[in-house]
Amino acid sequence: MKRERLLLAVPPLLGWYRISKRDLPWRKDRTPYSVLVSELMLQQTRVEAVKERYVRFLTRFPTAEALAAATEEEVLKEWEGLGYYSRARNLHRAAKIIVREGFPQTWVGVRALPGVGDYTAGAISSLALGVYAPAVDGNVLRILTRLLADPAKIDENRTKRDFSALLTEVCPPEAGEFTEALMELGALVCVPNGPPACGACPWSALCLAHLEGREEDFPVRGEKRPRRVEEHDVYIMTCGGKYALVRREEGLLKGLYGFPFLTAPPAGRELAARRAKHIFTHVEWHMTGHLVEVEGEDPAYLWATAEEIEGKYPLPSAFSAFRIWIKGA
Ligand code: SF4
Repeated sequence: MKRERLLLAVPPLLGWYRISKRDLPWRKDRTPYSVLVSELMLQQTRVEAVKERYVRFLTRFPTAEALAAATEEEVLKEWEGLGYYSRARNLHRAAKIIVREGFPQTWVGVRALPGVGDYTAGAISSLALGVYAPAVDGNVLRILTRLLADPAKIDENRTKRDFSALLTEVCPPEAGEFTEALMELGALVCVPNGPPACGACPWSALCLAHLEGREEDFPVRGEKRPRRVEEHDVYIMTCGGKYALVRREEGLLKGLYGFPFLTAPPAGRELAARRAKHIFTHVEWHMTGHLVEVEGEDPAYLWATAEEIEGKYPLPSAFSAFRIWIKGA
């Protein structure tokens, strides 16, 4: 029953996609490397935010060879502001593997690249290699559970497995287009926030949730675990026009420069304080930032000017609320 309905849904979906797809930079002049870059950039990041950055990244690092030859610092700097910096490090490592061993030709090989999970491996295999492998994320689960009025909980692994198997069964020969069409429908029509645009949907005559007027009942989710909240005092120490930075050696934002988190204030004169919040996937940082003028440059830190912070040291967006204190930055 599910399979039959999904089989019926494939031709109108492809027909709709061919005339409605967005003109996105990563859909032009595709190479396996460019697909890898776009898929990693798009992980947990909005298409609008990625568009310009993707073009800039590929201009700077047009091939896996160019990326592999760069230093980690150069790659992180180019990634600055996109967040989830482990993706940049993984991409860098993946480029080195590709230069050494060639681009993998199977789903298993793609999946083994750093930073590539099941979804990304499915997308890359379909788009870059023409080998269909299901790429099932929250968007795809939303549209499929609506199409089928399926009450399966979308955050359970079993649901993902079942829909992956189903998609593999009904995949047409145009594997790449099919993968993208599913994503595009979830992005443009059967949207995650707000009511779905059923009037413009190629599935409006087939979609059980729509036919039953129950679009809002799907997808069904299980209990959500709350994010862990961490309180931090962040010190923006300044001395003679320079600011103290630390390279974070572990945990969130590993490998990036930031302002130190201290449990006791440094000796000096506090000039200002402000609260800020940054939300990661599973953790929230609730920060109190302190701008402190200190007497001398403590050698435990890297002391950088505003220009150096702007141009040389990638400062993650978690600290952007405190940039107003960096004069000239
Ligand atoms: S008909 Fe409406 S609910 Fe069903 S898939 Fe299309 S947009 Fe989503």
